[in-house]
Amino acid sequence: MSATKTAIDFEKKVAATNYDPLPLVLTEAKGVWAKDADGKRYLDMMSAYSAVSMGHGHPRILAAMMDQAQKLAVTSRAYHTEVLGPFLDRLVKLTGLDVALPMNTGAEAVETAIKAARRWGHHVKGIAKDRAEIIVAEQNFHGRTTTIIGFSSDESYRDGFGPFTGGFKAVPFADAAAVEAAITPNTAAVLIEPIQGEAGIIVPPDGYLTQLREICTRHNVMLIVDEVQAGLGRTGKWFAHQHDGIRPDGLILGKALGGGVYPVSAFIGTREFMQVFNPGSHGSTFGGNALAARIGLEALNVIEDEGLVENSRAMGEYLFERLSAMRSNFVVDVRGRGLWVGVEVDPAVVSGRAVCDALAREGVLSKDTHGTVLRFAPPLTITRAEIDWGMERIERVFAQGVARKAA
Ligand code: PMP
Repeated sequence: MSATKTAIDFEKKVAATNYDPLPLVLTEAKGVWAKDADGKRYLDMMSAYSAVSMGHGHPRILAAMMDQAQKLAVTSRAYHTEVLGPFLDRLVKLTGLDVALPMNTGAEAVETAIKAARRWGHHVKGIAKDRAEIIVAEQNFHGRTTTIIGFSSDESYRDGFGPFTGGFKAVPFADAAAVEAAITPNTAAVLIEPIQGEAGIIVPPDGYLTQLREICTRHNVMLIVDEVQAGLGRTGKWFAHQHDGIRPDGLILGKALGGGVYPVSAFIGTREFMQVFNPGSHGSTFGGNALAARIGLEALNVIEDEGLVENSRAMGEYLFERLSAMRSNFVVDVRGRGLWVGVEVDPAVVSGRAVCDALAREGVLSKDTHGTVLRFAPPLTITRAEIDWGMERIERVFAQGVARKAA
């Protein structure tokens, strides 16, 4: 029996079935390359949904992690450490915001933002007790907690998991007028992804966030941008909202903040917004621990020192061009920003999953979202030669579709 089959059979016996992974078993990865249990090599164009933006096993991040782990790792926030301050200082300076609250996963940072919005609404804006509302976009993805899935429009995320928390209103994405129409005196915040990732890499028209900024300011509503996936260079700017030149009141970061090795997330906001938290109002045993803070700081330093934002912009343009120029009978649309490109396929011709399986056989790791959009989001360290290596294989898979139809 192959090493791959042994590992998959073993895992299947004991793992809950909330995932349906591609049938390959990764054993090692370095930079943009991964290896499976049978020794086959892959180009990682998924980067764990943007969590591995600095590439796998980045030497500086590993060194910082090992050094800190040996000194001081988990303390809880019952005590101060020497590393949390420098990490949060770097975060607030990079984002142009004032105060940061560290958590672990993206969903926890979103929950933090929701709590901040509601408390600000009740304590500062003067909304009556328990009446605060948050406006979100249809087809959003902000995580998997029961509160968050309660305002999802995807039935597969919700089915059987109710009852859900109220206080959310969903309006169509990329429609600023719909947001304004939904605002009432009870509206505390608008919570939005600058590009909808899990919905299929949906890029709104330029100026959408500028309009939301103007509307939120005019109605005294907090604008919260969820950049768990879009942030930290993925779109060719440090933060995706910078394409519109705005400053949100609150910003949610995660994934790549953990340097590809550890869960690190944060909610960062203006002082007015963040002062709603007093001791005891929120927390996390692991959030902001010394190891997390050191890794988060090193991840930010690596992005800066290695010019990864610039590389994302330049290589993203190249990847986009190459994917757009591809000949295939099942591509419906190619869209994205920076090193985050979605290729939508026609489900009447082929399933996204089948294309992913074919890509993996050729040595390219990708993953479909909603069965129709293939995501290409490699580590931001990727070179032109590595993209060329991947494109040769991607083109082969997509051209096979053309050949099949012609036959
Ligand atoms: N927000 C966005 C925009 C995301 O894409 C994700 C994860 N895909 C999350 C939040 C949740 O992050 P996590 O899985 O770390 O909880």
